[in-house]
Amino acid sequence: MKDAKAIPYKIYLEENELPKTWYNVRADMKNKPAPLLNPGTLQPMKAEELAPVFCEELIKQELDNDTRDYPIPQEIQDFYKMYRPSPLVRAYCLEQKLGTPAKIYYKFEGNNTSGSHKLNSAIAQAYYAKKQGLKGVTTETGAGQWGTALSMACSYFGLDCKVYMVKVSYEQKPFRREVMRTYGASVVPSPSNTTKVGRAILEKFPGTTGSLGCAISEAVEVATSTPGYRYVLGSVLNQVLLHQSVIGVETKTAMDKYGIVPDVIIGCAGGGSNLGGLIAPFMGEKLRGEKDYRFIAVEPASCPSFTRGKFAYDFCDTGMVCPMAKMYTLGSGFIPAPNHAGGLRYHGMSSILSQLYHDGYMEARAVEQTSVFQAAEEFARVEGILPAPESSHAIRVAIDEALKCKETGEEKTILFGLTGTGYFDMVAYEKFHDGKMTDYIPTDADLQKGFDGIPNVNL
Ligand SMILES: *Cc1c(COP(=O)(O)O)cnc(C)c1O
Repeated sequence: MKDAKAIPYKIYLEENELPKTWYNVRADMKNKPAPLLNPGTLQPMKAEELAPVFCEELIKQELDNDTRDYPIPQEIQDFYKMYRPSPLVRAYCLEQKLGTPAKIYYKFEGNNTSGSHKLNSAIAQAYYAKKQGLKGVTTETGAGQWGTALSMACSYFGLDCKVYMVKVSYEQKPFRREVMRTYGASVVPSPSNTTKVGRAILEKFPGTTGSLGCAISEAVEVATSTPGYRYVLGSVLNQVLLHQSVIGVETKTAMDKYGIVPDVIIGCAGGGSNLGGLIAPFMGEKLRGEKDYRFIAVEPASCPSFTRGKFAYDFCDTGMVCPMAKMYTLGSGFIPAPNHAGGLRYHGMSSILSQLYHDGYMEARAVEQTSVFQAAEEFARVEGILPAPESSHAIRVAIDEALKCKETGEEKTILFGLTGTGYFDMVAYEKFHDGKMTDYIPTDADLQKGFDGIPNVNL
């Protein structure tokens, strides 16, 4: 039995083993992700057109499909050291509980105050904004993790931070809001009457509880109309996946150290940043033909961009002020049913992951929320960590894969991303415990309404 525990419960890296570079998976993709388009001219966005919206250095990263390794600036490496490496955990207790021959590992990103992986990109984006001499940044937040991460990053570099928070979350998660304010951010419920686009949306849909797409429009409007401000985004974009590759690079270094090779890598997918980051170096090996892995993106059945969406150019926001991206999308007007509890509610998906999925390098699965919370609870009871609902989508499929191994007797190695903790999601847990959580899978007719809003753009 001793041998079986030759792998420690937690695999850490020494400080000198921490990543010094981010890995840009686009460099190894034969079919590059489609470029962002200017919604007016339908031509690929040029750096100078993006400059009023985004920070200069981040635009370079966004448009760079060729540079494989990006040195992580020393200031960011130093900040990472406060909460990284994140532990790579062998889920011995879960394996035992399931009675599976599978070996299960998870990379846990919830060990920082923002409670998720989002800080990895927030600190990078704040750093480049500061370096450019900006006064502040604007953003949107849904469940609140991104807003929290960005508030932390901005306070570290002394930047102002304006957060547009989806109204329903603003009201349901007052403590998230207070964490952001503790870090000095100003938080506005969206849609609001502080912007033109917000006022237009309120007029058209009085009483709306908001959406991410709508909050993005507001944040972009404020950034582009306020001198010294730019807009930053916590997921979906190429630059965000680049920063999040720190998750995958750490994981790969740790696994290589112990000679562990995952057969299947699983992550939840909202806009695709944690999954894109976790799989990046492994996907690189697959793209270069060096190794083979299975990758599974897990999404809510109530917001099924990959499994039921269209691969098309679409608007990234409700107000249609942002560039258009080619991605798996449900249409920018799509809003998940009101009973949808936990995050992952964006209508689109990272262009990088969309292209990889389209080209057959990745699988996707949609799961219903009650089964997600069952998995969350099962995991919490044996592994100790109270997972975020988003993360629990990955737990669901990791458990399903492990149970398959139990049937077949295969000793597969399963790796999944545990993106964060769920302390601010106890209302959803409460609904689950009280038996009040329901599943709603949109009908084809429901989805068609969203698809009708996808612009007819053919290159
Ligand atoms: C934001 C978030 C996600 C989903 O975002 P991705 O960009 O798809 O990674 C998943 N888990 C947690 C805890 C989050 O905060």
